[in-house]
Amino acid sequence: MTQPSNDPEATRSVQFTVEGDHFKLQAQVTVPCGPIHVSDLLPLARGLSDQIVGESVKAVGEAGLKISCKMGCGACCRNLVAISEVEARCIGNVVEELPEPRRSEVRTRFAAARQRLEEAGLLDRLRQSEAWTEAEYMELIAAYFPLGIPCPFLEAESCSIYAERPVTCREFLVVSPPEHCAQPGSREVQAVRLPLRVFNALARMHAPWDRPGSERAVPLILAPEWAEAHADEPPAQPGPDLLRDLLRHLSMKPED
Ligand code: SF4
Repeated sequence: MTQPSNDPEATRSVQFTVEGDHFKLQAQVTVPCGPIHVSDLLPLARGLSDQIVGESVKAVGEAGLKISCKMGCGACCRNLVAISEVEARCIGNVVEELPEPRRSEVRTRFAAARQRLEEAGLLDRLRQSEAWTEAEYMELIAAYFPLGIPCPFLEAESCSIYAERPVTCREFLVVSPPEHCAQPGSREVQAVRLPLRVFNALARMHAPWDRPGSERAVPLILAPEWAEAHADEPPAQPGPDLLRDLLRHLSMKPED
């Protein structure tokens, strides 16, 4: 563990390597030596995710395939989207910081979605994401999509918070025809397999102490209410330690 620094301005450069199937990235980042929160690492996490996705898109092209996802296709934005807890708080802030009347409109969409989920008997189960088993998660995915609930940020079939969209949304790409994505339970959807997924690394950051490596996620559709009920982030830790945790969860090997 890094010794806490007395200098609030002190920073440390960390070199690291990330490796996955046919993928290797070497980089160097600078983090504060003092205590930071996981949310402070979100810009780095998003940047890593974008790099991994970018390399995967290149590999898809080299294999003679084409990514079908494009602006104006929001078929996947009617899925049950699970995001990390740190991003759930971020989504709560995004909604709070929207100017009026947009904030009220988006809040109304979230409320309408909750109502619909309650009528469908899914709301309570979705609220218990901490206790989901893999099987239950799959069941919920299957039950959610036919309801056709668009993400409250989906406008004209495009993401209205593109720069702030969760990592899960960045990491889902398909090479199959878009119409398959609109069919509930279609087995024809061919998602791009990424060598590493930053979403999983973020979701592991707050695993309970007795289940290290397990993942905690929140349904995006419930993110604002979850964020309101869990306003405080877990305690801050020295920047280098937190970064090392993120890299470890992403199966990276810090070299400093
Ligand atoms: S945040 Fe954006 S990309 Fe993600 S599900 Fe919502 S509209 Fe789609």
